[in-house]
Amino acid sequence: MDRLEENLRAVRERIAAAARAAGRDPAGVRLLAVSKTWPAEDVAALAALGQREFAENRVQELTAKVATLAGDAATADLRWHLVGQVQRNKAAAAVRLDVVVHSVDRVPLAEALARAALTAGRVLDVFVQVDLGGPPGRDGARGGVPPGEVPALADAVAASEGLRLRGLMAVAPRGEDPAPAFARLADVAARVCADHPDARELSAGMSADLEAAVTAGATVVRVGTALFGSRPLASDRGE
Ligand SMILES: *Cc1c(COP(=O)(O)O)cnc(C)c1O
Repeated sequence: MDRLEENLRAVRERIAAAARAAGRDPAGVRLLAVSKTWPAEDVAALAALGQREFAENRVQELTAKVATLAGDAATADLRWHLVGQVQRNKAAAAVRLDVVVHSVDRVPLAEALARAALTAGRVLDVFVQVDLGGPPGRDGARGGVPPGEVPALADAVAASEGLRLRGLMAVAPRGEDPAPAFARLADVAARVCADHPDARELSAGMSADLEAAVTAGATVVRVGTALFGSRPLASDRGE
């Protein structure tokens, strides 16, 4: 069995086992393959194994990969997600690519995305990113709004024509037990869900902590390393 195939099977098994242990249906957890830094050929190879949803953290890299794969019928129906910091001037590009944006963390970004979506006559699926605390990321930045500010931002997104609020996204703080952090996330999600019943998605869990995220109710896990291998350190920057 080839490396990607073996990794994909192992990750799916981890998700299924965590779901069963939590008394959840494994079908209620979707896998996003985070392909940042990996070539388009790896995306095509994983797509050939049945993986349909992929994520990048930089608009430029995503644009390049989509261009490389254009014309490849086997990847034409892939769904792309953006999980890194997005600058307002990338809003139109994000809309053109019809990505799901997981990292909306401020009103001006939501406004820019909504404007671009309206101009294109589209509705963009978005998540509000929650800052669960901990040290800054590898690039010194940390996306997300503090939990207390999430309901107001969620209200603003939900009220935006051109945007559809799908739920919340978060990264567990580094160097901490992810379980209590994901439990805090689940609390905020329950509050948001009470006001916006359609925003039920919870995007949480990466290679190292997907079990804890599934236990806390994640409906989407974002996995890079466990599928593709280790990335060089400098590559985790958003945009
Ligand atoms: C890179 C990245 C992931 C995937 O992380 P792995 O540890 O490689 O699985 C998930 N979410 C975000 C926001 C990322 O930037």
